[in-house]
Amino acid sequence: MQITYNLKPALERRSEQFNPTTNVGFGNLRTDHMFLMDYRDGEWCDPRIVPYGPFEVAPGAIALHYGQSVFEGAKAFQHDDGEIYTFRIDKNAERLNRSADILCIPALPEQMQIDAINALIDVDRLWFPMQEGACLYIRPFIFATEDRLSVSPSEQYTFCVMLSPSGPYYSDGFDKAIRLLISERFHRAVSGGTGASKAAGNYAASLKAGKAAAEYGAAQVLYLDANNKQIEEVGAMNHFHVLKDGSIIIPKFTDTILKSITSQSILDLGELLGCEVRQETVMLDQFISDIESGKIIEAGGFGTAAVVSPVGSYIFEDNRVITVGDGNVGEHTKRIYKVLTDIQKGLLQGPEGWVQHVKRVHV
Ligand SMILES: *Cc1c(COP(=O)(O)O)cnc(C)c1O
Repeated sequence: MQITYNLKPALERRSEQFNPTTNVGFGNLRTDHMFLMDYRDGEWCDPRIVPYGPFEVAPGAIALHYGQSVFEGAKAFQHDDGEIYTFRIDKNAERLNRSADILCIPALPEQMQIDAINALIDVDRLWFPMQEGACLYIRPFIFATEDRLSVSPSEQYTFCVMLSPSGPYYSDGFDKAIRLLISERFHRAVSGGTGASKAAGNYAASLKAGKAAAEYGAAQVLYLDANNKQIEEVGAMNHFHVLKDGSIIIPKFTDTILKSITSQSILDLGELLGCEVRQETVMLDQFISDIESGKIIEAGGFGTAAVVSPVGSYIFEDNRVITVGDGNVGEHTKRIYKVLTDIQKGLLQGPEGWVQHVKRVHV
């Protein structure tokens, strides 16, 4: 892939303004450039890195009306050698294509996605924050650009990658467990729908549920299946719980659950975590009674942004509250978080190929 570079404004300008040692928060900042590539006449073309900024989109673009748009979220880390490494980026590239397929968006070869991400990180590497626990959050996405109001798959698309220099998700340490609302009113996905894709529209559809959760003092909704029997996931995170013997249980991936790369990594690590990790169908009634009997001692969510989100309690729509253990962050949750983040930061050797060096080409 022959990438065209338009590296203005000059790199120096931004590096003067950008102080990488302050707390930058999560997802607030952008780097100076973005990667773009278009799909037209049946092929992906014109790969380019240009200054970050607004693009021209036709008012009739299909993505704006019919939501034909998918995205990814990944992270890159700076190791002690000063170099930047992506984490399981091949899995994100593979999943973007899986999501794209569900929304009738043409696939973009995985290696092209990875080359695009590496090239962009390379030119914007000076924007890596120096804060402890920092990362470059990577956001690749594809959206339909054809200007047409009839409903059928677009024949034109844009693939874009942008980067957000981010601090750790937990700014004041990993110490607070969240509450989830178990809702029988809101559902994220049904079998045969778009639940297994990272579709923009799935997130639009979750906003109302998020507002309801806030009214209950909960961070997010824990979604059940359409029959309100099984535990599915948390909307931007998969769900997990830990049994008294230390085993970690993740609900089985179905077509109503987005296959989290964080969950997959925990499953792949298994032994390295020193406990059994397995997938099961998790029935709500059993789950609640196992928390009450003390068989389930910890619970939480898995996702790239926070890595692990400990859950201290659940609340039902009738205000009934179920507390997991003593409601605080448990030892197993802390260990899972540490093992995974140590691998990401290069402090612990993970399985072959999980971290990939971003080669120095331009900067
Ligand atoms: C992105 C996402 C997750 C988390 O997946 P990761 O690959 O771990 O970041 C979980 N559920 C949904 C619905 C998502 O969109």
